[in-house]
Amino acid sequence: MSNSFIPYGRQTVTQADIDSVLTALRSPFLTQGPLVPRFEQLLSSTLESKHTLVANSATSCLHLSCLSLGLGRGDLLWTSPITFVASANCARYCQADVDFVDIDPSTGLICLNALEKKLTTAANNNTLPKIFVPVHLAGTSCNMADIYALVKPYDIYIIEDASHAVGAKYQGLPVGNCSFSDISVFSFHPVKIITTAEGGAACTNQPHLYEAMLNLRSHGIIRDEALFEFPSPGPWAYEQQHLGFNYRLTDIQAALGISQLSRLNDIVKERNQLLSNYEFLCKDLPITFLNIPKDCYSSVHLAVMRLLDSDSLKHRAVFNGLRSAGIGVQLHYLPVHLHPYYRSLGFTEGDFPHAEEYSKSSISLPLFPGLTLSSQRHIVSTLAALLQ
Ligand SMILES: *Cc1c(COP(=O)(O)O)cnc(C)c1O
Repeated sequence: MSNSFIPYGRQTVTQADIDSVLTALRSPFLTQGPLVPRFEQLLSSTLESKHTLVANSATSCLHLSCLSLGLGRGDLLWTSPITFVASANCARYCQADVDFVDIDPSTGLICLNALEKKLTTAANNNTLPKIFVPVHLAGTSCNMADIYALVKPYDIYIIEDASHAVGAKYQGLPVGNCSFSDISVFSFHPVKIITTAEGGAACTNQPHLYEAMLNLRSHGIIRDEALFEFPSPGPWAYEQQHLGFNYRLTDIQAALGISQLSRLNDIVKERNQLLSNYEFLCKDLPITFLNIPKDCYSSVHLAVMRLLDSDSLKHRAVFNGLRSAGIGVQLHYLPVHLHPYYRSLGFTEGDFPHAEEYSKSSISLPLFPGLTLSSQRHIVSTLAALLQ
């Protein structure tokens, strides 16, 4: 048993990953070379989407997704309050407004009853969102078939925030195949399932959305003369037709991603095994892990447990106890609407009570490939002592 600090999550970088990156560094292209489209093709075949676009972060992908769907001033985007702030911020980048749908505390995912009620009210008040962003918390897919059935009759677009869910399945098919959404977004930040240091991907089956995102990823510039608005003055010409960004991923990062992606199945299997170990070791403790619905194969980005019969004081005491024992627990998440920025937009305590209750009882235990069973035992015995 080591005395060093155990983080809640961290990357695994193998010699093969390092070799792949070194090869890219010695190649003619550090960026805008062949490894980026290669990584995109491999992601498309793994995630079973027609098109995949990679970018320098999932946040950038969420922004591009919103723009490709035409989100703008006066529009509304709904998401979960239990997510990373980027799921909501993407709307604010487009001058659109944000609202939230409360969660089901047993899964941490959007509550379908709350969604149905909110849709009915919004339809009556003419305040329906243009985009709905379900979040696959901890790598477990939301109930996408039912979400699609509820949301699509109102012509609302769906962006899956699948940042946690690379390698996850829903109804036996990979998250990212967009059967029940317009776009699915993934993150390759080092704490996530596979990494490119910074990086993200957007999958879609709709060519026009892919083309729009591709264009905006690189300044809104067009190089195909056939699409020019003005006659081409020469072979050097390109046209900027929209205000785009530099959201590109480099070939160095794509090299890392390609190598990491080849281990995806093993990584997700190990994460599932680590979660089962925790569930077994904790079976007599007054805690519960997030419920994973039967038709989901989770990528287990996080091992979120909830304290039963607890209150904020107890939650904080357990949290502090674990941290001071060198166990890097984390809260995923403080509800987005309670951040000062969102409070300044009018949200307040009590707006989404299930999310608030969830955040007062949840703790993410360390989980990453290579975490040993003896470390897990140490973590659980430390937890057990704190719960006495
Ligand atoms: C990590 C994360 C993001 C943002 O990912 P980046 O690649 O860091 O931009 C967005 N949404 C969720 C739910 C996340 O966990």
